[in-house]
Amino acid sequence: MRNKDLIEKLKIQRGLAEDEWVQIIDTFDEEDLRFAMDTARGITIERFGKKIYFRGIVEFTNVCRNDCYYCGIRAGNSNCARYRLDEEDILACCEDGYAHGFRTFVLQGGEDPYYTKEKICGIVRRISERFPDCAVTMSIGELDRDFYQALYDAGARRYLLRHESADASHYAMLHPASQKLESRMRCLKDLKEIGFQTGCGIMVGSPYQTSRHIAKDMMFMAEFKPEMVGLGPFIPHRDTPFRDEPAGSVDLTLMVIALTRIMLPDALIPSTTALGTAEAEGRQKGVLAGCNVVMPNLSPMEVRKKYMLYDGKVGTDMSAETGIRTLRAQMEEIGYEVVVARGDFQRR
Ligand code: SAH
Repeated sequence: MRNKDLIEKLKIQRGLAEDEWVQIIDTFDEEDLRFAMDTARGITIERFGKKIYFRGIVEFTNVCRNDCYYCGIRAGNSNCARYRLDEEDILACCEDGYAHGFRTFVLQGGEDPYYTKEKICGIVRRISERFPDCAVTMSIGELDRDFYQALYDAGARRYLLRHESADASHYAMLHPASQKLESRMRCLKDLKEIGFQTGCGIMVGSPYQTSRHIAKDMMFMAEFKPEMVGLGPFIPHRDTPFRDEPAGSVDLTLMVIALTRIMLPDALIPSTTALGTAEAEGRQKGVLAGCNVVMPNLSPMEVRKKYMLYDGKVGTDMSAETGIRTLRAQMEEIGYEVVVARGDFQRR
């Protein structure tokens, strides 16, 4: 079957066979990409209009016990100046964000044992009480089920945990042996069962990734049905084992975004900072490929340069205010409007 016919088939069946995914990824040309993006964008506009949800990210700690080979804040990077925000700092970021129209706060950080269950749940509870009309999203890695349940009970309703690769051997090439795909999958399952709107996802073009790996990622997502999907190109960081690996391709990232949207019409899919870093117009292109979320940074200026997951991360040299204004202008430039809303997942 031609790639365009496979894309049509995906739209109807919301899934493809492994070899069909592999074919599209291996052989798509410029015209196929345009067709996939047009199809995905049509589905997004029909479902959400030309509205983009804003989420404010607070990067509250760059301390991490893990050693992911791709990540700039990995434990083994001794060139990384570590920081932690305290409860009052975090609340102040949310206060600032609320005034700018944010109705979702994403607390993201390394896996930092300093923030015990009691500590972090206390912070989540305060944010939920202070901003009852806002959603709290967590992105703090792998925790045990009790911990996830406690976060939910404290008021968090969404959780972002990219699966990074649905193939165990590929996953093992991106992480030390102590980090297992099995454990990541258990976390994702627990999160869904507890009732979180759950986000998974991958870096496109991560080292050693093949088209068959991406096919497996798509098949995993067809089955898992995440409410949110995070997709961005891999970008090397100079202080990691992957410093000399090539960055992921923007076109392949856009193709994966478009295919994900066609497969999961209701999903919340952010146009990521990594996409905006890989290319000046990256975030606009992400929206044109079916993204419907952007996540500006609300972290205090002083810490931004310290939360460097990859080299050249955009937005680290501007205030929250300027970052928001820039993103709003980028969206308006392509005819989209940024809305003040929680933007919860809704199945149709
Ligand atoms: N510690 C948390 C949150 C921070 S990392 C967690 O692991 O979930 C958030 C995401 O950034 C990761 O899931 C990864 O996919 C992405 N990321 C990390 N390093 C990157 C790099 N070098 N290039 C592109 N994306 C990267």
